[in-house]
Amino acid sequence: MSDGPSSDLPHPEVTIGVDLGGTKVAAALLTPEGHLLQHDRRLIHQNADPERVVNDVVAAVRDLRVPVGSRVVSLGVGVAGQVRSEDGTVLFAPNLGWRGFPLGTRLEEILGYPVSVTNDVRAETFGEWRLGAGKGFDDVLCVFIGTGVGGGIVSGGRLLEGATSSAGEVGHSMLIAGGRRCHCPSSGCLEAYVGGWAIAVRAQEAVRLHPDQGQLLLELATGLEAITAETVTEACAKRDPLALAIMSETATWLGLGLAGLVNAFNPARLILGGGIIDHHPDIIDVVHQIVRASAEPPIAEAVTVVPAALGPDAGVIGSALLAHAMNLRSRP
Ligand SMILES: [Zn+2]
Repeated sequence: MSDGPSSDLPHPEVTIGVDLGGTKVAAALLTPEGHLLQHDRRLIHQNADPERVVNDVVAAVRDLRVPVGSRVVSLGVGVAGQVRSEDGTVLFAPNLGWRGFPLGTRLEEILGYPVSVTNDVRAETFGEWRLGAGKGFDDVLCVFIGTGVGGGIVSGGRLLEGATSSAGEVGHSMLIAGGRRCHCPSSGCLEAYVGGWAIAVRAQEAVRLHPDQGQLLLELATGLEAITAETVTEACAKRDPLALAIMSETATWLGLGLAGLVNAFNPARLILGGGIIDHHPDIIDVVHQIVRASAEPPIAEAVTVVPAALGPDAGVIGSALLAHAMNLRSRP
């Protein structure tokens, strides 16, 4: 976990982490060990020409004041989307509306630092592994449940890359054959049951089916179609039985889905993060119990389910550390 400036002395080498989402960009200056020195967060121009977004990223990076006596040795960017990590090309980022955009090359041209680009969730996984809830373990499965469900896998002390740098798309592992329609080309995926968008869909269906029990959800959202996962969270805080039942079911599905992944990857730590977990921390215990009861015995005994530790800084920390590690590897 970052703990602010680690000392007043200048660090000869510093690294920059950037977390680029669909609406905002965060940039941070860190020591090579991952201590946060400075932070900048801003909105980006949405649905715009990628070059305008590049300008937003550059502006965020340039606002970081590199201390005298320090040199930036690497810059890492985590992007919500599919990335070809060899050359930093963003293959597909639906939130940004990008297909095949050479983000790494553009940033290197403008800023002059070695840039590495990776998927944002893989970057967060790297951060949680090196400095967060997975620190000290060689086998870690990280799953983030926000609007969607993404993850990353550390196996034998290495972040799994996959053939197209996309290993860890755990949200689209099959939970129920022929089940709910997903946002991906498939159906019955874990995400189609436990992702924030899926919780909204399930809540709307439940209220349509049981309007008498859905009064509070309807009131809070001011209409059926306006019910979101946030509405369900608000209703849970007021101990609304329907909202609590929806989240209890969510926790069960998540546990069952993750038990399969725990069997597949045999992690020592299963780290859960993201908005849904932050707002419903009770899910951790439910998942722990289900995984312990459903995974193969030696595998089940080896895993502990824990909450993510770095919070919203996981992205910038992970991107920076990953870029630094890759830069070290490529140095002569
Ligand atoms: Zn899917």
